[in-house]
Amino acid sequence: MTPAAPGDPADAAAKAAAPRRSLATLQQQLFSYAQDLRDLMEQQSLLQQRYQLALQSHGSSTHSADVLLDAIPKTIDTYLVTDSQGEIVRASPGAQRAFASGGAELKGKFIWQFIHWSHLEIVTKLLAKFVGVGATGAVEQRKLVLLDRALPRAIIYDALVIPVRKLDRMEIVWLLRAEVQSGLSDIAIQKLMLTSSECAAGLFIADANGLVCGVNSAFSRVTGYSGADLVGENPRLLSSGRQDADFYRSFWAHLVEAGSWTGEFFNRKKNGRIYTERKTVRAVKNEKDETVSYINAMVEISHDESETQPRTNPAHHDALTGLPNRRLLEDRLTQAMANARDGSNKFCLMHIDLNRFKPINDEFGHQVGDQVLREVSARLQATVRQSDMVARVEGDEFVILLQNPVHNEDAHSIASSVLTALAAPVELADGKGLKLSVSIGCARYPLDGDDVATLLKHADAAMYSAKRLGLEFSFFEADSIVQPGPDMGADILLALERQQLHLVYQPQVTPDKFHQLRGCEVLLRWNHPLLGEVLPLTFIPIAEKNGAIVALGYWVLETACEQLSAWQKDGLLGLTLSVNISSRQLQDPQFAQRVSQILRTHGIKPSSLELEITEADAMQYLQDARSRLSQLRELEVKLAIDDFGSGYSKLSSLGSLPVQRLKIDRNFVRDLAQSSAARAMSECFIGIAATLGMDVTAGGVETQAQLDVLASQGCHLVQGFLTGKPMAADAFAAWARESGQAACDRA
Ligand code: C2E
Ligand code: MG
Repeated sequence: MTPAAPGDPADAAAKAAAPRRSLATLQQQLFSYAQDLRDLMEQQSLLQQRYQLALQSHGSSTHSADVLLDAIPKTIDTYLVTDSQGEIVRASPGAQRAFASGGAELKGKFIWQFIHWSHLEIVTKLLAKFVGVGATGAVEQRKLVLLDRALPRAIIYDALVIPVRKLDRMEIVWLLRAEVQSGLSDIAIQKLMLTSSECAAGLFIADANGLVCGVNSAFSRVTGYSGADLVGENPRLLSSGRQDADFYRSFWAHLVEAGSWTGEFFNRKKNGRIYTERKTVRAVKNEKDETVSYINAMVEISHDESETQPRTNPAHHDALTGLPNRRLLEDRLTQAMANARDGSNKFCLMHIDLNRFKPINDEFGHQVGDQVLREVSARLQATVRQSDMVARVEGDEFVILLQNPVHNEDAHSIASSVLTALAAPVELADGKGLKLSVSIGCARYPLDGDDVATLLKHADAAMYSAKRLGLEFSFFEADSIVQPGPDMGADILLALERQQLHLVYQPQVTPDKFHQLRGCEVLLRWNHPLLGEVLPLTFIPIAEKNGAIVALGYWVLETACEQLSAWQKDGLLGLTLSVNISSRQLQDPQFAQRVSQILRTHGIKPSSLELEITEADAMQYLQDARSRLSQLRELEVKLAIDDFGSGYSKLSSLGSLPVQRLKIDRNFVRDLAQSSAARAMSECFIGIAATLGMDVTAGGVETQAQLDVLASQGCHLVQGFLTGKPMAADAFAAWARESGQAACDRA
């Protein structure tokens, strides 16, 4: 949540809560497991003591996570237990309520799916650290932003992350406590909102930190903001800018002192219009006389037509939006740098660019383009603190000057608020909604530049970097500008959620004249919103590096098996699915079990699945590969060595793997027609396979001449553009029927 501006309601609310918070900061922030704990260290050591005691009393370390969970107080009802890859093996009812949409089971999903993109890296690093150290008993305490499916919105959690050992594997317990706690229960708020739905007065309830927990219908009618727009937000979203910091200070001072305030406020509706409301705000206290909520009741008394257009100075402000222009921004920057020379002051620049703004202008005309820019500027202004500045520097480009971000997370959090604020479609005159997307680049002062021009340039470069990589947000990093960075892996998981990934299927046929269809290779595609179709060779290595491949790999398997099952029901029988897997997937001790479970779920015979592992992977991770492949083999799943010929296998090693097929690397196939050396190689590969009792598939077959050579050498199956390109599922099914018919005709 965006930190509050000095002088605005949330800031004052935070200050009002300050004495209480300062006493309890450590206790509350870092899981107050028991009321009598004084500080974090005590809490952690107590937790560990309890854990050890519980372990001893159970006399076994085989159910460590269970023991740990038994040891914690029942007040913590939101926790997840994952394996070392982030797969959820257990979820508390509280977690189930918070993260599962539509009652879906959390078990079997990956924690990544519920982590806000800006915090994925933290989780990746945590998991890597635990796996690397193999530590148990270590406790990490972090703030994590998770996506609450029920509301839906991002919520900051205090997370205590504890690795424990269960038999031969590691489990990780994530104890979670939402940072923003409402003083009134959700049920109480819902009841209040329901009973007040017919009420003429607009009503909203805020929690002790001033964040909105609920609004009634009259409030939405007046302001244009729905509950979904406002819940979890800071009410300064409504701020008109007409009241100064002194006004808010005296408002809050009175409210804290007297427990209620009545008077007039100028606020701004969702459509940008300023209106006057008469309102009463009352603080709700608990039995200890602490404020737990604020109830705001209001009626509109007038609105001011003249205020729909901003009042600005044309030399320093942009005429369309009324925002400061580049010149004013540069002045402010120069000033901020002068103030910051003693190192006491930090700030950062966020360069925000609307994606695909030009097509909006072209398709809907300039009037709509202008409306979009005005709406974006209003939303940006409503998102930042009063001490920050939003400027329009170019057509569809905005810059936020963000004062005093203490950590990178602060910038992340503002960026996340900006993205949330811009996520709602812009309503056009014909009632249709226009969805926007933006790329945000961030440069920090003085880290990323210590003069105005450099800092602006680097914020711009970071924005381009984000755009190029299809990310929503990126910090400036000198070397991450042209290369897809590790963040792309996190983006892939997001892509999974946003259904930007799909599979294509490439036929594998006999090399004879009948080209009988035997199966297909499953290939992953990413329909990237900016980059178009991204091929796996671009993103798989990144996903392998940061571990995202594990979740991705299960999704591929699950989707492909579901597809095969659908085909089988449609009468397309006898096909084998060849699915590529990475060595990282084989490192998951549960892999064979999961594969078996997926096959069972979709009613697929294990022998209808062939898993391809590249020769290089198989040789590099021989130990892991051998034991995991043996487990798979026991299931009767088929195994193939992919890209054979490129990885310099030792024959003895190859022979020790339980594989049934070699796939000849397409680099060898390419030269078959012209080069006798290439022909000798492929003949040799087919000979090796025969010696080891394996079949051979040749990939990348593009010409009849290549096919003829392979057929004459006794290759069992071919795959390539000549006999069939990778196709979407429907096209593949149609192709399969046609080719089956053609084979019959040829016979
Ligand atoms: P691969 O397993 O060797 O897959 C065959 C690649 O050759 C595919 O590229 C396919 O489109 C391409 N290809 C097929 N026929 C021809 C041809 O006649 N000529 C040429 N020039 N190319 C042909 P794609 O789809 O780009 O995949 C590249 C690699 O990415 C795959 O190589 C595989 O190693 C990896 N990959 C693809 N999908 C997955 C996946 O779901 N999981 C994992 N772990 N890796 C995957
Ligand atoms: Mg392959």
